[in-house]
Amino acid sequence: MALTDKILQIKEELSEFPEEEREEKLKEMLSTLSPEELKELEQQQCIFCLIAQGKIKSIKVYEDSEFLAVLDINPANKGHVILFPKQHIQEIKNLDNYIFHVAKLISIALKEISEGVNIHISEGQAAGQRINHISINIIPRYKEDKISFFWQPKKVAEEELLILKEKILNRIIELMPKPEKKEITQEKFVKKERMP
Ligand code: ZN
Repeated sequence: MALTDKILQIKEELSEFPEEEREEKLKEMLSTLSPEELKELEQQQCIFCLIAQGKIKSIKVYEDSEFLAVLDINPANKGHVILFPKQHIQEIKNLDNYIFHVAKLISIALKEISEGVNIHISEGQAAGQRINHISINIIPRYKEDKISFFWQPKKVAEEELLILKEKILNRIIELMPKPEKKEITQEKFVKKERMP
């Protein structure tokens, strides 16, 4: 049975249950769907996919074959732009690098009509990602606009910082395309020499 028919059937069956039992029943019914079907369902409900498909109206400030940037209709500040891939992509690692170039261009444009700019990405529940479709928020800023990106600084011992540095830098070197690798390794070598 096609997914749309399954969803119709689920909706029909749900309507026969009293309101207070529906949530539990829905969970039960959704658990019968395959991972592929769940992913398809997620995409059918995804606000960014729907915007990309033109099923939800939006005010576009940038569009190419891969990416779309729209004005947030509930902005943190006037001119708040959301940039996202047209494909349902959940993680930063699967993004084409070009999106960061577009983010830079949008940031320049926003800075020129405001006093400052924040670029904000959340990946993972722990980071506050609420929609499983990665997006970049680009927010124009004004003095006293009362938007807060405040956190309480934590203390970390220097040895721990150095361990972290090794882990992160080694992984970056692994991820780097080959021609750039040499330069970074050299940089690492120079830094290592300076440290006791
Ligand atoms: Zn999506």
